[in-house]
Amino acid sequence: RRNTSVGTPFWMAPEVIACEQQYDYSYDARCDVWSLVFNFFSDFEARPSVTHLLEHPFIKQAQGKDVALQQQLAALILEQQEAGYEIICCSDIHVQISVETIISHLQKRYDELQVYTYVGDILIALNPFQNLSIYSPQFSKLYHGMKRADNPPHIFATADAAYRGMVTFCKDQCIIISGESGAGKTESAHLIVQHLTFLGKANNRTLREKILQVNPLVEAFGNACTAINDNSSRFGKYLEMKFTPTGAVIGAKISEYLLEKSRVIKQATGEKNFHIFYYIYAGLYHQDKLKTYSLPDRTPPRYIDSQHRTVMQDIVSSKLYKEQFDAIQEGFRNIGFTEEEVNSVYRILSAILNTGNIEFASITTQHQTDKSEVPNAEALETAASLLSIGPEELQEALTSQCVVTRGETIIRTNTVDKAADVRDAMSKALYGRLFSWIVNRINSLLQPDMNICAAESGMNVGILDIFGFENFKKNSFEQLCINIANEQIQFYFNQHIFALEQMEYQSEGVDASLVEYEDNRPILDMFLQKPMGLLSLMDEESRFPQATDQTLVDKFEDNLRCKYFWIPKRVELCFGIQHYAGKVMYNVNGFLEKNRDTLPADIVVVLRTSENKLLQQLFSSPLTKTGNLATSRARVTAASRSLPPQLGSGRTKVDTMEMMRHPEETTSMRRQTVASYFRYSLMDLLSKMVVGQPHFVRCIKPNDDRQALRFCKERVMVQLRYTGILETVNIRRQGYSHRITFEEFVNRYYYLAFRAHQMPETSRENAVAILQRAKLEGWVLGTTKVFLRYYHVEQLNLLLREV
Ligand code: ATP
Ligand code: MG
Repeated sequence: RRNTSVGTPFWMAPEVIACEQQYDYSYDARCDVWSLVFNFFSDFEARPSVTHLLEHPFIKQAQGKDVALQQQLAALILEQQEAGYEIICCSDIHVQISVETIISHLQKRYDELQVYTYVGDILIALNPFQNLSIYSPQFSKLYHGMKRADNPPHIFATADAAYRGMVTFCKDQCIIISGESGAGKTESAHLIVQHLTFLGKANNRTLREKILQVNPLVEAFGNACTAINDNSSRFGKYLEMKFTPTGAVIGAKISEYLLEKSRVIKQATGEKNFHIFYYIYAGLYHQDKLKTYSLPDRTPPRYIDSQHRTVMQDIVSSKLYKEQFDAIQEGFRNIGFTEEEVNSVYRILSAILNTGNIEFASITTQHQTDKSEVPNAEALETAASLLSIGPEELQEALTSQCVVTRGETIIRTNTVDKAADVRDAMSKALYGRLFSWIVNRINSLLQPDMNICAAESGMNVGILDIFGFENFKKNSFEQLCINIANEQIQFYFNQHIFALEQMEYQSEGVDASLVEYEDNRPILDMFLQKPMGLLSLMDEESRFPQATDQTLVDKFEDNLRCKYFWIPKRVELCFGIQHYAGKVMYNVNGFLEKNRDTLPADIVVVLRTSENKLLQQLFSSPLTKTGNLATSRARVTAASRSLPPQLGSGRTKVDTMEMMRHPEETTSMRRQTVASYFRYSLMDLLSKMVVGQPHFVRCIKPNDDRQALRFCKERVMVQLRYTGILETVNIRRQGYSHRITFEEFVNRYYYLAFRAHQMPETSRENAVAILQRAKLEGWVLGTTKVFLRYYHVEQLNLLLREV
């Protein structure tokens, strides 16, 4: 505990760091030592002397076992204690930190509802599974512009650091939130947005409210109840908040990745469809408008209850759903959607539910046996009317298809199964495109006002919240994509925390011992390599009309020779993957179909005849996303140059041209599959992330029962292990998270040592002069850069403020 009457903050000293017992908060390089030091003096009966101290096992391990240094240290400890510091610890003592130490520390804190802990500059967030009273505007104020050591760890501190990084260095920032499903990523993302809007000094209150409503609105359409999480994200989301150079918020932009469209037509037992379908039932029922939108109201439609487990009354009378509906409507209105647009959205949602209720029966005639019809026209007619298209045309497109061969057009009839597939493909396409449209519409409504700030001079903080790693009893194509995305994020984390940092030490000639870590690159290569990676193999197989899920498994087995992949004996149509986060068994059933994700041209043609403006837009060609393609393409290409070698070139290099096409578009080019689009999305996402300074939030799920105050050691242990937290502790202990060129450093901080008009040369010597004048300790110099620890930057900025 630091005695505040003593001059210089003790923790600025090179070797010794005071801990503030009042908070006892931070598990970083220092904390492990703290707990030792807590008991340190109680190990001696009387006040120890230097000789006594040297006998203590704690000191014996210290300073790389250098006795001379240990003597200095012991003297320093005593001296500081004299000066009013009760507890001290040493950052340089090489005590091996074990996972057990971290766990018991986390547990102790969790028991006291301290859910946040730092590991260096990384924030660990344990899901509290209960509402905490630490997110009010008072807390935003408390964390605003403060040193990290001033307050207990908090998600606001991370948001604050990103914001300050952006304003100070005029550099984009990105906050990467990771963790398995249900760990609390989405909640964390909300809290970050909340604090950033607070910091963004909204002299424009409306804009602030709009931005706060973006997440709930998009999540109503993209989240659903799964076996693991009642509000599980079924898409990846990168939200960029845009600021002026002085830090006023001026807009926002969302990018969405890989919505799990298959959920629209089918859900696993115990799971639900996307939230919005339930919300509209409860909300519109309350407004007595179920009929206006022709929502089936006798029994829940098949798409939301294929097993007839739900009673209509339960859905329509749900208070929660109704409240959510009201919030969504409010969100639509506030953000700026017109009433007509919102009506169209509801109509399309209802059309999807009615489409799901269309059933087919086979008709056998003399000539044909594989023809289908719609015996009960009600659902078909309602769907057609909601979509403003002709019911005959719709039936036609569902039950037959035009095939052009050698210049001749032939009409082929669909079997019952095929017709049902076409029906479901249409529903998925409707929902997927509606979702993209909503996101694009929000983006255009929240675009920065060019009068306030030219777009290029603005900066942003991006917040990544994707679907977490999943391992269900039965895992399918969707889980594979989700888990590959998580694999990629883990790789990015490793690159940043370990690889790039260590590479930079080496190239700058800075002496730092290397830390070993679990590199998941081989797994990622196995998925993404061309032409022999799993995704490429799947694409190749998807192009053969005769291929089956069995031939796909065979292809995998023949070509994937890698210890991370195996085919289990005695289980049909399955393969296993050893992911960074654990073993997952995938069931290949339906993989090829899901990957092809074909939408027959006949359906597109019919939907384009719609009189509904929104629907016309959804199916007008080129598709919704193409608006951004030119810029996207430039960005992806530029980014692949700046990516780490593993990503930007060589084996995992992604062919950008290949990735640009939309999965559903049937063109003269090869049809694009979900896998190749997915690959493109990943690249696009990375290209956005690599340009910013990253901040990491690691969400941890303390138990699988979603219970407050239940800390399951084993579960936490597993998550800490696979996320590499242990290695992170070790590297962060010696890490220099800020590496700034001499030029940038001098330009930024010369006020601290020179007069304003002096304009000193941006040299190494002047950088040193500034560092010395600022009385910083523990930095090092590379050949072109100053290497700083994260708290140095805090100190420098504080000093800068005082000048
Ligand atoms: P998925 O990958 O499935 O989307 P996720 O990591 O986004 O999962 P969340 O939806 O953020 O998980 O969190 C799951 C649930 O945990 C929330 O619905 C909420 O009940 C609880 N929770 C998470 N974080 C907090 C928090 N900070 N305070 C209170 N409750 C929380
Ligand atoms: Mg989520």
